Amino acid sequence: MKIWDAIVVGSGPNGSMAAKKLTEQGLKVLMLEAGPPVEPHTAYGNFVKNGFKQLYRHFKSKRQEQQKSHPTYWATNPDLFVDDIDNPYTHPDDKPFRWIRGRQLGGRSLTWDAVTPRLSDYEFQAAKLDGFGPSWPIKHADLASYYDEIEQLLEVHGSKDGLKELPDGNYLEPKAMTAGERAFKERVEKKYSKAKVLISRGLSATRSPTSPLSVLWNVLKDAQKTGRLTIRTGAVVSKISGDQVEFIDSEKLSQEYAKAKVIFLCASSLESVRILLHSNLGTDSGVLGRYIMDHSAGNVYFYMPELGRNQKPAPLLGSDSILIPRYQNLETQDSKHLRGFGIWGGIGRLPVPRFLHKHRDAAIGFLCARSETLPHHDNRIELSRTLKDKWGIPAAHITCEWKPEDIAIAQAGREAALEIVQAAGCVPANVTDLFHTPFVSGHINKMQKEWKLSTPGMFVHEVGGARMGDDPKGSVVNPFGQLWDAKHVFVTDGACWPTSGWQNPTLTQMAITARGCDRAIEELKRLNL
Ligand SMILES: Cc1cc2nc3c(=O)[nH]c(=O)nc-3n(C[C@H](O)[C@H](O)[C@H](O)COP(=O)(O)OP(=O)(O)OC[C@H]3O[C@@H](n4cnc5c(N)ncnc54)[C@H](O)[C@@H]3O)c2cc1C
Repeated sequence: MKIWDAIVVGSGPNGSMAAKKLTEQGLKVLMLEAGPPVEPHTAYGNFVKNGFKQLYRHFKSKRQEQQKSHPTYWATNPDLFVDDIDNPYTHPDDKPFRWIRGRQLGGRSLTWDAVTPRLSDYEFQAAKLDGFGPSWPIKHADLASYYDEIEQLLEVHGSKDGLKELPDGNYLEPKAMTAGERAFKERVEKKYSKAKVLISRGLSATRSPTSPLSVLWNVLKDAQKTGRLTIRTGAVVSKISGDQVEFIDSEKLSQEYAKAKVIFLCASSLESVRILLHSNLGTDSGVLGRYIMDHSAGNVYFYMPELGRNQKPAPLLGSDSILIPRYQNLETQDSKHLRGFGIWGGIGRLPVPRFLHKHRDAAIGFLCARSETLPHHDNRIELSRTLKDKWGIPAAHITCEWKPEDIAIAQAGREAALEIVQAAGCVPANVTDLFHTPFVSGHINKMQKEWKLSTPGMFVHEVGGARMGDDPKGSVVNPFGQLWDAKHVFVTDGACWPTSGWQNPTLTQMAITARGCDRAIEELKRLNL
């Protein structure tokens, strides 16, 4: 059997980053991706077809009951979200978990919102201040050059604000705020000394075939240009044994194998842990599968009277949105809750046609308080003893609930968002009081409660399960993402996160993956792998 230099499992932001880094340094790489290929001109479907599919699946086939709970499901091609029947998982009845996934080349980079703030040392070293959980074995300085490189590659826009709590990056010019956002910023910063309203750091993109939203059109393309990348789609990885990766052909259901000197597991946080559990790898520490996290979110919707008059809706994605970075518990523990939250939002940007607005002259806005959640030993993923997916692989059983410490941060976040909205002279309202919502008002009313305190998983920033550390006793991988008990296997997606921070995680995950690749190359050169 051919022995590849490297196998990369998954083709989302992390798998694509690994493929780019490894091929550009001369390695012959096989990428195994469970989902199908995607073509730019058909990836996002079209308004009519998407609407038909969404409604059919909502009312009739019920094949995407978890996926449809995410608002983005309704804003794009629902085929970019998994089929929940083919890809089942379980959770205790009283501990719901919403596992929002995409199985296709490019992973969830086709559906993400592309907001890309860096983590600061207030997150990496948070436990030094409050003693909860571990600190990371790395700091911002370890990732700084990788952040720079990836921001340039993805063409991240943003402002340089000189804030220690939100390190500046290698940005293109910041995008413009809307009229509503400019007024909001002025009013908020007049009343609050700590809360800064910034234009977001992120990609300038849309969910359309001509937009560079997905890593497919930049990161993966660079890897393909080297001529050293072989992509195998429809390859559902089941387990790793030694240097061998076992996978199932998604159509033929046949079992196949591939071998490599180095294996990068980038199937997304919980999928990577599921593969490790099934492979019985990384189990020595006793913490594999444990300490899974997501962010919790609390949304506040509102309108600003008069400020929407004659305004066209502005884009809402990536750099086209606003951000209030975390301002609590930075140098000292100054709040009742631990850690903190940042607030993301937009005014005059929600993509709802004007004829559906109930307040025609108002600018409609939302703030989403996005809170850190803490690592808890019993928030975990295990393998189901009975349930298997369509390909015969044991399904995940996910137990994750917000504990009192998490709820305290989330409540403080949502209360702060509400207070800020009111202090800025805006009027909070339910979504159904802002828009006419034919056909889906029942669903929206049902979901409103969840938008006030998101169910675990719902924010799609799930991390943890194979955390990194300095000591094999309490961690699954070392600071480079290498399994302590199988040094040729790197787990560099969100699975290796010891804590969640409050920032959107993907940029930092990609930086950790890129750093892991450099480590793999060095180790291969030294013949250590
Ligand atoms: C609506 C939405 C908005 C988001 N907004 C943001 C944002 O603004 N900023 C941000 O930082 N993050 C955001 N995220 C989260 C972001 O998408 C993820 O953090 C990111 O995609 C993780 O990258 P990944 O490569 O680890 O996983 P994925 O992107 O999930 O890719 C994993 C890939 O692995 C494949 N795979 C899974 N299992 C197997 C297997 N057994 N065998 C082979 N292949 C497998 C999958 O098919 C998939 O292609 C958002 C997500 C969603 C859904």
